Amino acid sequence: MLESAIGSPNGAGWSVIGMTKTNIILETRDVKRHFVTGRPIFGTPTIVRAVDGIDLLIRRGETFAIVGESGCGKSTLARLLTRLLTPSDGTVIYDGHDIGDLPEHEMRDLRRDIQFIFQDPFSSLNPHMTVGALIEEPLRVHGIGNAQARRGKVATLLSRVGLSTMSADRYPHEFSGGQRQRIGIARALACGPKVIIADEPVSALDVSIQAQVINILEDLKEEFGLTLVVIAHDLAVVRHMSDRIAVMYLGQIVEMGQVEDLFACPKHPYTAALIAAIPVPQIGAKLNPVQLAGDPPNPIDMPKGCRFHPRCQFAQSRCRTEAPKLSDTNCAHSVACHRADELNLSGIRDLSNTRRSSARTRFELYRTARAHSDGVKDAPATI
Ligand code: SF4
Repeated sequence: MLESAIGSPNGAGWSVIGMTKTNIILETRDVKRHFVTGRPIFGTPTIVRAVDGIDLLIRRGETFAIVGESGCGKSTLARLLTRLLTPSDGTVIYDGHDIGDLPEHEMRDLRRDIQFIFQDPFSSLNPHMTVGALIEEPLRVHGIGNAQARRGKVATLLSRVGLSTMSADRYPHEFSGGQRQRIGIARALACGPKVIIADEPVSALDVSIQAQVINILEDLKEEFGLTLVVIAHDLAVVRHMSDRIAVMYLGQIVEMGQVEDLFACPKHPYTAALIAAIPVPQIGAKLNPVQLAGDPPNPIDMPKGCRFHPRCQFAQSRCRTEAPKLSDTNCAHSVACHRADELNLSGIRDLSNTRRSSARTRFELYRTARAHSDGVKDAPATI
């Protein structure tokens, strides 16, 4: 298979239909990021394994979601993909280039190609700069166009994200959360990126505003042929906008596959519990048969064997001593669980249609609303 030519170490995600060497835009090979924290106890440093051996293949043009609870390492992984952080070990490859080896002047080119949208639209924009200056800044830094051309580009970008061109002279504090996230998107688009990494792009926004921002991201992805990497904890959002999902738990991927397969046939108890936790707006809906017990373990003192075993109702003695590897299952995705092929998570599957339609309904309502408001999307007051 072409995947083996890529040479990734453990085969994670290789089962993806249509995966070829040339359509891979981002790849990680056994990437780790460990942080040393606090004072050494008896001479041994305290280490947090935020990202601990991740293999990923991300295709051109797809929307790839990384999900998990707070503290699972997904935001750290996102920063490793853009070299905002450097790995403790392993390799990140963009379009065939190991980004760890790139000198700084080549990194500038790479930063044009990979842009980041931050979670918090309130703190990610410099309050002392006008919106026009904020969007123009990356163009200036990369020496793109003269002043007049840059101003024209800013106006085009503002219009493209549904903001008035008059917004260029205003400051971020004059805008709502949804509008600020649109400004962040316009800024990310300024240099014509190929990949956008969005870290919880809508989690700080009201649900109604979330749908508008998601719709914009989806439209721009189609228009510019972008690859989107979405970091999120809200599975309803992820299910709506993603092609594939990787589920992270304590620094590792525990399940990965096409979104429809993963929702229809979750094989890891953690994934099943996350799906079952999506709220169902239905009186008398059955309670979740797979429960998440307790909080994630202390990342400084990881459990031996399967890291999920202290919270897993299906754990057996083998789970406490032997760490499962990510491998293919009889469903069309990869999972790291000793009991993946024998567990029957049918209770979750029974509920999945209801939950799917719940998530769909939420966003299709907003999509319909957008169709009505398209004619007035230059009016900031509607956001
Ligand atoms: Fe649960 Fe064992 Fe599977 Fe881990 S390996 S998820 S503890 S059944």
